Amino acid sequence: MLRFSSSGRSHPGLVRGNNEDAGFAGPYLQVVADGVGGAAAGEVASATAAYVVSALAGASSGRDPADVLTHAVQVVHEQLVAGTAAVPERAGMGTTLTALLVDEGRCALAHVGDSRAYVLRDGELSQVTRDHTYVQTLVDAGVISREEARRHPRKNVVINALEASTLAKPDVTVVGIVEGDRFLLCSDGLTDLVDDDTIARCLDTADPDDAVARLVQAALDAGGTDNVTALVSDVVDGPRLVPDGSMFGAFADPTLVVDPAAVHTESAG
Ligand code: MG
Repeated sequence: MLRFSSSGRSHPGLVRGNNEDAGFAGPYLQVVADGVGGAAAGEVASATAAYVVSALAGASSGRDPADVLTHAVQVVHEQLVAGTAAVPERAGMGTTLTALLVDEGRCALAHVGDSRAYVLRDGELSQVTRDHTYVQTLVDAGVISREEARRHPRKNVVINALEASTLAKPDVTVVGIVEGDRFLLCSDGLTDLVDDDTIARCLDTADPDDAVARLVQAALDAGGTDNVTALVSDVVDGPRLVPDGSMFGAFADPTLVVDPAAVHTESAG
C-alpha cells in the first residue's frame, strides 16, 4: 500500500513575529496552508484549513481522495464563514491550501493560492501546482518570464484563496504516484526567496529531515522575510498505518481552529 514517509517544519522567519503558516504530515495526507489577515486571523484561517482537511481525510478511508478533498475545501469555506461571523475582527481572513491525499494507491491534490507542490522523480524536479497569482497570469500570457515573476512588485497578489467572502475554485487533480517519488509542499516564504535549482539541491539527500532543514535554512539565509514551511514526503510501500500525523506552524496550537466539533459532527459522515 502506497503511503508517505515525511518530514515537515514551519519557521516564523526572521522578520515576522508570528507564524501564519500551518501544516500537517501523516502517512496518507500532506497539507500546507498559508494564512492572511490581521488580529491573529491568518493563523486561525490556516490552522482551521489544516484541521478540517486532516479531520475529514482521516475519517474518509476508502473514498475517492479527489472527492474527499473537494468536500474538505467546501467545509473549510463554511468554517471561515462561521469563524468570521463569531469574531468580526477576523473579517478578511483567508488562507492558501495545498493538500495531497493518497488512499489505496489513488492520489489527489487540491490546491488554492500560492503555496506550491513539487515532485522529484528520477532526479527531475517539476512543479505540480500552478500559482493562483496575478504574476502567474502574466507568465502564462507570455508577458513576463518565471524569473521576472519572482521579482515582480506585485508577486504577492493572490487571485484565488480560501476566504469567507467568496467560494474558492480549487484545482483538484488526480496525481499518478510511484514508489520513490518525493513531493515537496511549501509556502511562498520558501519559493519567493529560493529558486527551483536551489530547492532541487536541498532535496538531493536521502533523509527527509535533512532536506527540510536545508530548505528552511536556505530561506533564512536569503533573508527569511516571510514564514517558511517545507514538507518533504517520500512515497513508500508498506503496511497500512493508523492515519495520525504531526501538526506544525499555527496548527501546533489547536485552539486556533474555529470549531472542531462542527467539522466532526456535520461533515465526517
Ligand atoms: Mg507566505
